[in-house]
Amino acid sequence: TESANTHEFKTEIKELLHLIVHTLYSHKEIFLRELLSNASDALSKVQFEALTNDNLYDKDQPLEVKVSIDKDNKQLTIEDTGIGMTEAQLISQIGTIAHSGTKKFINELKENQDKAKNPELIGQFGVGFYSVFMVADKVTIETKSMEADAPAVRWESDGLGTYALSESERRKRGTAITLHLKEDESEFLEKYRIENLIKQYSNFLPFPVMMEEEKVNTPEALWRRNKSDITDEEYKEFYKQVGNAWDEPSHWEHFAADAPVQFTSVLYVPKSAPYEYYGQDQEHGLKLYVKRVFIQDDCKELVPKFMRFLKGVVESEDLPLNVSRESIQNDRVITKINKVLTKKFIDGLKKMAEKDGDKYQEFWKQFGRYIKEGVHGEMSLREKLLPLLRFYSTKQVDNPTVTLKSYAEGKVTDQKAIYYAVGESIEQLRRSPHLEFFTRNDIEVLLLTEPMDDLILNGLEPFEELKFINVESGDLELPEELKKEIEEPEVSEELTALKEKVTEVLTEKISKVRFSKALSDSPCRFYNESGGMSHNVRKMMFSGGG
Ligand code: ADP
Ligand code: MG
Repeated sequence: TESANTHEFKTEIKELLHLIVHTLYSHKEIFLRELLSNASDALSKVQFEALTNDNLYDKDQPLEVKVSIDKDNKQLTIEDTGIGMTEAQLISQIGTIAHSGTKKFINELKENQDKAKNPELIGQFGVGFYSVFMVADKVTIETKSMEADAPAVRWESDGLGTYALSESERRKRGTAITLHLKEDESEFLEKYRIENLIKQYSNFLPFPVMMEEEKVNTPEALWRRNKSDITDEEYKEFYKQVGNAWDEPSHWEHFAADAPVQFTSVLYVPKSAPYEYYGQDQEHGLKLYVKRVFIQDDCKELVPKFMRFLKGVVESEDLPLNVSRESIQNDRVITKINKVLTKKFIDGLKKMAEKDGDKYQEFWKQFGRYIKEGVHGEMSLREKLLPLLRFYSTKQVDNPTVTLKSYAEGKVTDQKAIYYAVGESIEQLRRSPHLEFFTRNDIEVLLLTEPMDDLILNGLEPFEELKFINVESGDLELPEELKKEIEEPEVSEELTALKEKVTEVLTEKISKVRFSKALSDSPCRFYNESGGMSHNVRKMMFSGGG
């Protein structure tokens, strides 16, 4: 239109759009889930706002989503009575890539197009609103913000490079998104197809999704239902919706507590660990509800940080509805919920480890590093978490099945330590000269492959009086009987001369050269004078500069 004013997409959005249209073609139907989840978010926000805001525009509007099809014009419209957007919000929110991981994802996709065909990967990122351009060649947003005096706005784009903003006629609060479907996407004009997709992906949205005056979904909160009435299928479906996920959960715990605090929750462990472990700003996956009202996504306070891989829902009757995001941080009720949830979850893992070792192995391979992080960072939980640790060892190179307890049970006479080695891979560790002495003497050595492992084990109190000692260490605190074996032997003059020569050549790099009988096959090893940093910690600390 003439009054429309045209804006250019940011470069990152253009890149995303290009990839969405050219790469993600195998899961086009995700656009509907993305739009419904945005609609539901917008409804949750307005519901929350209504608690305190008396000037809310259109306050009595029922909270719902309407999906309608216009076959003649090849249009599909998803309309909500949610929070709406002002012009400024429309520009900033629709114009940015919300998830911190999305940029990385874009780069990944550019390098490896096969990944784009993996729905689980896509699910982890959630390409969001822009997924509409997989199926539409023109999209219109008409939106009226909950702010009474903000004018309604219309946004229109073909997803190629620009979008146009203009005034909108919309009077109702909320947002209507109309997709003009591409020529070969007419399947999304079939009512049964859309209904099925809603049931499949968005059945548990907490607001009614209507088609032609009929409710399509089942918005009753799953977590409030009786456990015995819920099928595995329903739990899995709920996981996909609440966790915005495409994979299946590997495990879930549904429980309620009345004392010392009332709450209900469903916690899920995803099948695979998040794509980015080290992203410290990684989102937490728990949603908080109070008395049926959605309060907050990614509620960090509900569980300790190392449990951030969990997805799910927590609802409590003991919190006030007007609990603010700031007050959650030091709320007593939340602290109590955190304690109970943590305990129940750890107990659940213990049970899993006892009942189904294979399943626990799978869990450990994906999430073991989080548990180790908990051991390191949560002093008060350490005792509880130690039995969950699993290790590879010189006696168990195929699977990480060694526990601290089983290690202690297998110690040799007089053994005073739990020995461990840290390296880049189990394969590389198996060839390590440091292990020769231990293998020869039938002493088990734990094998670890993550940079932080050394710090973690180093920081532990002795387990059943066994200290944790890195095999690189200069002082191995060996059983008396074995000490002799690695004492520096008497050597010939010739060898003494060699030692002097080596000392001279390497003088800048090492502090000392000594002869040892510890090695059987290798000519030499680098060991660590007591108190010095181990090779691995050093490497980790100095790896920044390359
Ligand atoms: P995300 O939902 O992960 O934030 P999206 O790309 O799906 O990412 O949406 C971007 C943003 O656009 C949302 O965070 C929200 O602020 C806004 N938005 C999208 N759809 C709606 C809607 N129906 N009502 C209000 N705001 C919306
Ligand atoms: Mg979204």
